Amino acid sequence: METSTDTGTETLSDHLEDAYEVVVVGGGAAGLNGALMLARSRRTVVVLDAGEPRNAPADGVHGLLGHDGIKPAELLATGRGEVRRYGGHVVRAAVDAVHRDGDGSGAGFVVALADGRTVRARRILVATGLVDDLPDLPGLRERWGHDVVHCPYCHGWEVRDQAIGVLATGPMSVHQALLFRQLSDDVVYFTDDRDLAPGQAGQLAAVGVQVKEGRVTGLEAGGLRLADGALVAREAVVVAPRMRVRADFLAPLGLRPVEHPSGAGDHLPTDQAGQTPVPGVYAAGNVTDPSAQVGAAAAAGAWAGARINAELVMAAATVTS
Ligand SMILES: Cc1cc2nc3c(=O)[nH]c(=O)nc-3n(C[C@H](O)[C@H](O)[C@H](O)COP(=O)(O)OP(=O)(O)OC[C@H]3O[C@@H](n4cnc5c(N)ncnc54)[C@H](O)[C@@H]3O)c2cc1C
Repeated sequence: METSTDTGTETLSDHLEDAYEVVVVGGGAAGLNGALMLARSRRTVVVLDAGEPRNAPADGVHGLLGHDGIKPAELLATGRGEVRRYGGHVVRAAVDAVHRDGDGSGAGFVVALADGRTVRARRILVATGLVDDLPDLPGLRERWGHDVVHCPYCHGWEVRDQAIGVLATGPMSVHQALLFRQLSDDVVYFTDDRDLAPGQAGQLAAVGVQVKEGRVTGLEAGGLRLADGALVAREAVVVAPRMRVRADFLAPLGLRPVEHPSGAGDHLPTDQAGQTPVPGVYAAGNVTDPSAQVGAAAAAGAWAGARINAELVMAAATVTS
């Protein structure tokens, strides 16, 4: 029997039934909150989770009411315990593919795991998050989530009043510089040989962000190295990764990510209920909304879980003549 406690101490099990009403793919904030709603609605539900949440490198989760600063792993361990408390299963497993169920059992989908097992489901909740594709710059990757950051609401307070460098990496970079200026008087925008759009130089100047032209060749302990050899001293560096969703396993259903309107990466579009264009397949969290922080991802997962439950209730209540 699977057991767990709220303190993050878990007894792990990879027990899997042959079929569930709902299979949740991904056990971050979105997937676990979706499963919590479903388990509390007495649905049979399993969360299949590869165990690589996006914020794993971070020291703490910030801006989350009631949990500000909690370690990412501790929050998720607590969430797994809450799902299990209501009879939901949480299994460490990677999903390779989701197919339509062709055996006529009415179960809906067959989920194929990387370890060779399969499990059937009537509904799927995709909560697989995204991968941050970082700029390929020496010295950057190892500092990601510590003093190389992307989000003013996640770690802006932690770098307040520091000498901050914003590296131009994409369409969100000037916006980031403006937001981080709220947290420090000393913000330098590094163009990395990218052109500013019309009006952006004026915006940066208006709030006192300096602009440094030239290609950046690497990050060093003391700052950013430019192609001309100069080292510009900076304590923290802001980048905008390209956000790439983890959704290849949905290709057999014909479900593929599309570019997000922000230009920051791709996403799986859904309607307001979290329903994708494939009936019975829902999505929540960063896989559909790259800007969702932990609270928003959890809320979207909870909402999708509730919508799935309501859809199954209504399906059972449908009178066929
Ligand atoms: C460095 C950093 C720091 C951050 N700090 C904060 C912060 O302070 N506050 C805040 O609110 N937000 C923060 N965020 C944002 C936060 O990470 C996201 O809001 C949150 O992770 C989104 O939750 P999710 O459930 O959608 O995805 P995730 O948390 O990424 O969870 C997705 C899960 O799905 C699993 N998965 C993926 N593919 C498969 C598959 N095929 N089969 C099975 N499982 C799979 C993954 O392994 C992962 O466990 C930060 C992000 C980063 C990058």
